[in-house]
Amino acid sequence: MAVQQTFSIIKPDATERNLVGKIIARFEEEGLRVVAIRKTQLSLREAEGFYAVHRERKFFGELCAYMASSPCVLLVLEGEDAVLRNREIMGATDPADAAPNTLRALYALDKGRNSVHGSDSPENAAIEIAYFFRGTELH
Ligand code: ADP
Ligand code: MG
Repeated sequence: MAVQQTFSIIKPDATERNLVGKIIARFEEEGLRVVAIRKTQLSLREAEGFYAVHRERKFFGELCAYMASSPCVLLVLEGEDAVLRNREIMGATDPADAAPNTLRALYALDKGRNSVHGSDSPENAAIEIAYFFRGTELH
């Protein structure tokens, strides 16, 4: 095991329902530390750039419009095996498939409005962190 950083987004459905504190508290309880944080409303262009890997998927337009629809909280989380730990804490993409007590099982509304994003590999974590944060903002 190694200390890693991963990138997380608390998505618009969760910020709208005032769940920011509960979600961050869960990360902290699970041993992940917030090393950078910013609340922001993504532009459509920023959302499209972030999710560019999904641009051929039929839900791409809907996904990007949703991500730009209300503020998000952008987080860099650090801890042992942070990428995998965060994916475990989040649960499956569709809340109907998410394991009990995962963030998506607890809070997600549906497959699109699923409350949290988490990087799926250390390589993508580095790309996603650099998309939103400067190295000097990580503490
Ligand atoms: P994850 O966020 O679990 O890594 P993906 O990378 O496959 O999932 O998809 C990115 C995001 O796109 C999901 O978190 C969800 O918000 C949205 N999404 C995925 N599949 C669908 C779908 N079939 N319909 C609508 N939105 C979807
Ligand atoms: Mg993904």
